[in-house]
Amino acid sequence: MMRKLIQILFIVGLLILTNQIIAQKNIYILATGGTIAGAQADPNKPGYKAGSFSVEDLISAVPKLKNIAKLKGEQVSNIGSQDMNDAVWLKLGRRVNQLLKRDDVDGIVITHGTDTYEETAYYLNLVVNSTKPVVMVASMRPATAISADGPMNLFMGVVVATQEEANGRGVLCVINNEIHYAAEVTKYMTVNLAAMKSPNRGLAGRVDAQEVRFFSPTIKKHTVNSELKVAADVKELPQVEIIYAHSNMGRNMIDAAVKSGARGIVIAGVGDGNMTSVALDALTEYAKKGIVVVRSSRVGMGAVKRNIEVNDDEKGFIASMELNPSKARILLQLALLNKKSVKDIQQLYMKY
Ligand code: ASP
Repeated sequence: MMRKLIQILFIVGLLILTNQIIAQKNIYILATGGTIAGAQADPNKPGYKAGSFSVEDLISAVPKLKNIAKLKGEQVSNIGSQDMNDAVWLKLGRRVNQLLKRDDVDGIVITHGTDTYEETAYYLNLVVNSTKPVVMVASMRPATAISADGPMNLFMGVVVATQEEANGRGVLCVINNEIHYAAEVTKYMTVNLAAMKSPNRGLAGRVDAQEVRFFSPTIKKHTVNSELKVAADVKELPQVEIIYAHSNMGRNMIDAAVKSGARGIVIAGVGDGNMTSVALDALTEYAKKGIVVVRSSRVGMGAVKRNIEVNDDEKGFIASMELNPSKARILLQLALLNKKSVKDIQQLYMKY
């Protein structure tokens, strides 16, 4: 009787184990640097260098990862994300698309710095051509800090990337137990574990040790539904500058942007995308000459809509709707790359 019971338990155990092995998803971890890979020279001092540890270091800091997915790691760059640039974006976007085409890759987790986390997430959200999960993770404390948040964020990012429900949601940002949509997330605080917010439309979901809970899907277009393409031979994105509006604003920064070759200008306007009459006149002049002008806001929440205090129809401007200046810049870069007209570009801001 006892022997039979042991035999049954053994078979059940074996079945569970085999099932776990079979069911494990294949997740690629692409590392780009950031505080999550940061090291302090002296653990008693706050200073540190982002992008000091390798992807292998990051994976081996979380031994439990191998219980939830089959992992492969790849180093794409190892920089502080304040240094993020077109070359890394182009490389990353192409690599993500290449990997996600493969049947033996179920999802991707990207480690990144928090400074431009929202920008890379939004760029990928527009250029990735797959419904498979792409999850970006970051941390606010370097890997050598007391209670470093990176290992937990990486763990939760991989957990989210293994979920069926993560498919088709566009690029997701997992940090501090929260899941954000790429179009919504923004860094809201310079120092704090809860540095990210999705101020306009809220979270995509939450994740903790027990479960992953997704909320409503995003209404923004992304990934497989994006009409914005980056051809294989593109080496850099069109030059678009962001100019920050303020009281007593003159036109010198606008003139300098155009002179340096900008094809587009995003104004981080005061309030509802406003600016001084001097700045407005300068932008009106350049819009007539073919520089594409997008009005966004420095406020941090809410939408900039057309024709409220500025007559966009008359001036040929575009309103950024809910996109903050840094994301409005990326959408304009990709729109210019795809040779869209001003009218079509406005439509992109309504949908993405
Ligand atoms: N400067 C760092 C970076 O963006 C900050 C961070 O990761 O939290 O790479």
